[in-house]
Amino acid sequence: MAKWTYSEAPESTDVVSIKDTYDLFIGGGWVAPESGDYFKTINPATEEVLAAISMADEQDVDKAVSAAREAARPWQRLAPSQRAKYIFRIARVVQERSRELAVLESMNGGKPIKESRDVDVPLVAAHFFYYAGWADKLEYAFPGRRAKPLGVAGQIIPWNFPLLMLAWKIAPALATGNTVVLKPAETTPLTALAFAEIVQQVELPPGVVNIITGAGATGAALVKHPRVHKIAFTGSTEVGKEIQRTVAGTGKHLSLELGGKAANIVFDDAALDQAVEGVVNGIFFNQGHVCCAGSRLLVQEGIAERFLDKLKRRLGTLRLGDPLDKNTDIGAINSRDQLEKIKRLVGIGVEEGAEIYQPPCEVPERGFWFPPTVLMGVSQSHRVAQEEIFGPVLSVMTFRTPDEAVEKANNTPFGLSAGVWTEKGSRILWMADRLDAGVVWANTFNRFDPGSPFGGFKESGFGREGGRHGLEPYLDLEPL
Ligand code: NDP
Repeated sequence: MAKWTYSEAPESTDVVSIKDTYDLFIGGGWVAPESGDYFKTINPATEEVLAAISMADEQDVDKAVSAAREAARPWQRLAPSQRAKYIFRIARVVQERSRELAVLESMNGGKPIKESRDVDVPLVAAHFFYYAGWADKLEYAFPGRRAKPLGVAGQIIPWNFPLLMLAWKIAPALATGNTVVLKPAETTPLTALAFAEIVQQVELPPGVVNIITGAGATGAALVKHPRVHKIAFTGSTEVGKEIQRTVAGTGKHLSLELGGKAANIVFDDAALDQAVEGVVNGIFFNQGHVCCAGSRLLVQEGIAERFLDKLKRRLGTLRLGDPLDKNTDIGAINSRDQLEKIKRLVGIGVEEGAEIYQPPCEVPERGFWFPPTVLMGVSQSHRVAQEEIFGPVLSVMTFRTPDEAVEKANNTPFGLSAGVWTEKGSRILWMADRLDAGVVWANTFNRFDPGSPFGGFKESGFGREGGRHGLEPYLDLEPL
């Protein structure tokens, strides 16, 4: 049988200029770290060093918080419509520089260019546009209440959606009149540093946004800083818990967006080919480095065999390789550490009795890669049914009745998202009512919109990002 082959279609890197060394972005300018220490950031697809990045310590954190504090009063006093103009300007410059930002995101993080170009960066611009619109309408967002900014927001973000998580954090904070100190993840600082250039380009008043790079200790110093009024964190449940312990009793506001182990539930009346696409998108999008990934497939017993056959056939068509190639579906794993974690957990799954399926797939020699993987015959007690793997690995279980599907779907410590595939609207509503998940997608998965709130409960965290709800974590709301 004739087989389609794809010619190489690499996106050009000419559009990106990466400096050899990056200082910290504090008070509107570039400031060398007090320690003089820099660490290397790499391209996970090639292991090539891209730049040297500042390692911020407690003194640097203090400088950044002081700059944000100094900027807070004048920023709050600015007419809300003026604040909106700055945020609109950021959105427009993100659009203008979208190709550069997409290429940089893929180079530093390993995600396929078609995702950074078509999903991440457009959503970044959309978030800034959306929250710019709220800046002068807070009295309509919270009628009968006076909305006051909190002050300085310390924001810590992960490596899976570096620029998008920055937008989720910075856009609502600025719209509500707060100033920001943001720490990107150690492995993916480059788009946050490009964003610092955008902040300069739009002439945002100095100190309103500060970007400090570093490691976990830098984040911990930001959490501990006494003059930070609010902490917003996205990352692992483990670090989230540690942050909650540190913040307890300090009066600081806190929002946590943590891990997940979402169930993608396929009923026997679902449009199966469409559901296969949704399951593939649910777990293999961004190499499965997605907190709301549909990492557990719950498929109704009567169609399980047929569905898995279709799924396996589809996996054979996924293209793994160069993230900058426009045909690539699965890019590089973000770091060696993450690759080790995925390998370890998949090994445990197999030891526990799961049957592993991986399509034939050539893996590049350099860089960090993991083929799309399905673990079948998984049961509730298996670690791969309970723990977040955060990689391209799908754990498959079956169910017979809707009640059993709900029971199994809710049987994890997490509660971030879920997917339901069925042709019956009434069943979708029945399921959505019973699933412990902040977001339930119906006949689709991994859809995001700045107007829609996102967040979890149980060990997936608390507080909402997106929508009108996303303004609240940055405000004190008092009765008029
Ligand atoms: P972390 O939770 O460690 O990292 C998230 C962010 O927090 C990073 O900016 C990190 O900095 C920072 N950080 C680390 N330690 C502290 C601390 N003590 N105080 C304050 N900030 C801190 O996630 P990992 O990168 O270690 O990933 C581990 C696992 O977490 C993954 O395998 C995945 O399961 C899960 N994860 C979940 C995410 C989600 O969106 N739900 C996102 C990322 C990871 P630095 O990068 O410099 O260490």
